[in-house]
Amino acid sequence: MAWFSKQKKVKAKDSTPASPPPPPAKGEGIWYKCDDCETVVSRADHEKNWNVCPGCGRHDALPIRRRFELVLDPGTFQELDADLTPQDPLNFVDAKKYRDRLKSTYKTSGLRDAFISGVGAISGVPVSIGSFAFEFMGGSMGSVVGEKVARVIDRAYERRIPCIVFSSTGGARMQEGIFSLMQMAKTSAALNRFRSVKKPYVSVMLHPTTGGVAASFAWLGDVVIAEPKALIGFAGPRVIEQTIREKLPPGFQRSEFLLEHGMIDAIVHRHELRAKLGQLLGLLA
Ligand SMILES: [Zn+2]
Repeated sequence: MAWFSKQKKVKAKDSTPASPPPPPAKGEGIWYKCDDCETVVSRADHEKNWNVCPGCGRHDALPIRRRFELVLDPGTFQELDADLTPQDPLNFVDAKKYRDRLKSTYKTSGLRDAFISGVGAISGVPVSIGSFAFEFMGGSMGSVVGEKVARVIDRAYERRIPCIVFSSTGGARMQEGIFSLMQMAKTSAALNRFRSVKKPYVSVMLHPTTGGVAASFAWLGDVVIAEPKALIGFAGPRVIEQTIREKLPPGFQRSEFLLEHGMIDAIVHRHELRAKLGQLLGLLA
């Protein structure tokens, strides 16, 4: 529990030799440079290309609103449950008060929690849809995220329509403790009820999808799709290595490894996702 009592770092004195200025933070400036292949393109072109590197196909995170733009028929998205905001049932304090952390995250992300949901259409088929926002506290799942996911599924149940959830998350939100963990059971129970209407639930795992979300509804899809090279798993590789005391194989917990081992159904390039979802709904909805 060392993180509860983090020691303040001693600040460097002014007299220390000047170090070179730090490089601009990722996401700033007009140029984009790929971390994998070092291709350089203008940031505008990168955004036009749905944040996919033209050199090597690396999929960078997509802002949440663009996710809906990417897959839904234009103008069909209607956001619902936007007024749900997180509470602080445990009065939780770590390095910072949970309340203060939330307030600063509202400001930096412009979001009320780590999930946006509503209804829309793909290839003319109405869908109940939701997506994680990794930019809000690492896409962690607290009570609000769990409730919104359950409502996406319940809405699909009530309207007898397909359900699609995009996951991108570090797992349960520790600041809400047991309330976060209970969302795993709640969402799984909602899915169990949804089964009776015999409409498809498509889970799309983005980079990264881990922890309690991977261990509940994200892996319960009738069809489980992943983006290329996404990190997907329950515990991180270091924890697993320490537990089983074995070296893990290369590419462990990446989409390609999981597809090879039968853990997911398909890897779909972001540019083909809309067409692939349309095709799936045409076959199953
Ligand atoms: Zn690249």
